[in-house]
Amino acid sequence: MSLNASLLKEQVFIGGTWCDADSGQTIGVANPATGETIGTIPYCGRPETARAIAAAEAAFPAWKALTAEARATHMHKLCDVIMAELDDLAVLLTTEMGKPLAEAKGEIALGVKYIRFFAEEGKRIYGDTIPSPWADRRILVTKEPVGVVGSITPWNFPNSMIARKLGAALASGCTMVMKPAEFTPYSALIYGVMAEKAGLPAGVINIVTGDAPAIGEEMCENPVLRKLTFTGSTRVGKLLASNAGKNMKKISMELGGNAPFIVFDDADLDRAVDGAIASKFRNSGQTCVCANRLYVQAGVYDAFADKLKAAMAAQLKVGNGLDAGVTQGPLINDAAVEKVADHVRDALDKGGKLVSGGNRPNNPGSFFEPTLITGATADMKVAHEETFGPLAALFKFDTEEEVIQLANDTEYGLACYFYSQDLGRTFRVMEQLQYGLVGVNEGVITTEVAPFGGVKDSGMGNEGSKYGLDDYLNVKYSCIGGL
Ligand code: ADP
Repeated sequence: MSLNASLLKEQVFIGGTWCDADSGQTIGVANPATGETIGTIPYCGRPETARAIAAAEAAFPAWKALTAEARATHMHKLCDVIMAELDDLAVLLTTEMGKPLAEAKGEIALGVKYIRFFAEEGKRIYGDTIPSPWADRRILVTKEPVGVVGSITPWNFPNSMIARKLGAALASGCTMVMKPAEFTPYSALIYGVMAEKAGLPAGVINIVTGDAPAIGEEMCENPVLRKLTFTGSTRVGKLLASNAGKNMKKISMELGGNAPFIVFDDADLDRAVDGAIASKFRNSGQTCVCANRLYVQAGVYDAFADKLKAAMAAQLKVGNGLDAGVTQGPLINDAAVEKVADHVRDALDKGGKLVSGGNRPNNPGSFFEPTLITGATADMKVAHEETFGPLAALFKFDTEEEVIQLANDTEYGLACYFYSQDLGRTFRVMEQLQYGLVGVNEGVITTEVAPFGGVKDSGMGNEGSKYGLDDYLNVKYSCIGGL
C-alpha cells in the first residue's frame, strides 16, 4: 500500500487556487508510525487567512442563493468523488495520523455520511408562522445562513471532524475557511482536491495551514467571519471562545472530556468488556469520547478485570496502521506517549497495580502498549486528566450514589457510559449524569443522525442530527403589517 502522490497536496486552497504561504515558509509533517517526514505544508498566517475569508465572502451570495436541492446535489457529488478514492484517502490518513487502515476507511465513510445527511437535512430548514397579536399583521420566522464560517479541527479524526462542520455549513448555505491540525493537514487538504473534482464553486471551501494562533486570531477578529466552530482542547477552546466573544461571533466548541465508564453488578459483563475495548482503545485511546475512568462495582470488579485483560491480549495488536491485523496504531507524537507514560507512572506510584502493558515498545514510532491498571484511586492523574491514550484504569466502587458523585466530579461533561440491566437504575443514572452523551450498554454511540456535544468545560453546541444545523443559521423575524 503506497501513498498516491497526487493526493498529497503541499499547498493551501484559497478561492479555488492552490498557493504557498506569502513568506514561502513551510513546516514538515511526520508519519507517527515511522518518524519519517511525509511532506511539508505552507506556514500561513493572518494575511493568507484574511484572503481565504474574503474568498469565502465572495462565494457566499451565490452559494446561499442556490436552492437546498442544488446545494445537496453539489454535496452528494463531493461525497461521490471522496468515496471513489476511499482506499487511497485511507492510506493517506493512516500515514499522517497512524490509526489502522480499517478505522481510517471507517472514519472517511462516516464523514461522507455526515455530509450526505446534512445535504438532505438542508431541505428541511423550516421556518414558522406565529399567530399574530395584531389583526392587520402577520408574523413570519425564517432561517438564514450565518455567512462565512471558520473551522479549526484536531488531528485525531482529521477527516470526519471537518465533515461534520462542512456538511452543516454547506447545507445551511454558508461558505467556509478551515484550518486543520498541523500534524494531519493532508486529510483536510484533500477536501480542496475533491471540491475541484466535484466542481464545487471556487471559494465555497477554503483551507489554510500554518501558524495556529495567528490563523485563530484572524478568524476571531475579521468582521466578515460570522461563526467559529472548533474541536480541540479545552485550553485552546476557551482562548478562542473569549476572543470570538469579544467580537460577537457565534461559536460552537467541542472540547475535551474525561469519560466515566461504569459497570454495575447487574451488568452483562461480556457486553461491558466489549464496550470497554471499543470505547477505551479505539484510535489507541485518542478520542474525546474515549473511556478515561473505568468504575467497576465491587461485586464484579475482579471478574471484569480478568475478562478485560483476556480481551485486551486477544484483540489488541500494536503496529503500523498500514499492516494487516493491527488494531492499535501509534499515538500522534512523542509528547502523547510521554503523557500516557506519565499517567501510568503516577498511578503505579500511588498504589495502582500493573496488570498488563505499561511500556513503550522499542521501535522508532510513537507507540505505547495497551495498558491495564487496577486499584486506581481519585488522587491519580488519570482520575482528573484526559489520558488520550491506551491506558485503562479500573476504579472500584460500592454504591450507585457513590459512583454518580465520582462520575460527575470533573469539570468535563462530554461522554459517559454505563452498563446495567436494571431498568429503574438505567433511568436514574442516565438522568443524573451531567454529560451531553450517554452510552447505556453501548461503548461507541456516534452517528450522524444523533446530536454530539458536551456540557460544562466540554463545550457548547451540537454536531450531527437536525440540531447540528442550528449553529449555522440565524433566525429572522419579519412582521408584515398594513394588511
Ligand atoms: P490537541 O490537544 O487535540 O492537539 P489543540 O487544541 O491543541 O488540541 O489543537 C486543536 C486545533 O487547534 C489544532 O488545529 C491546532 O492547530 C489548533 N490550535 C492550537 N492552538 C491554537 C490557537 N492558539 N489558536 C487557534 N488554533 C489553535
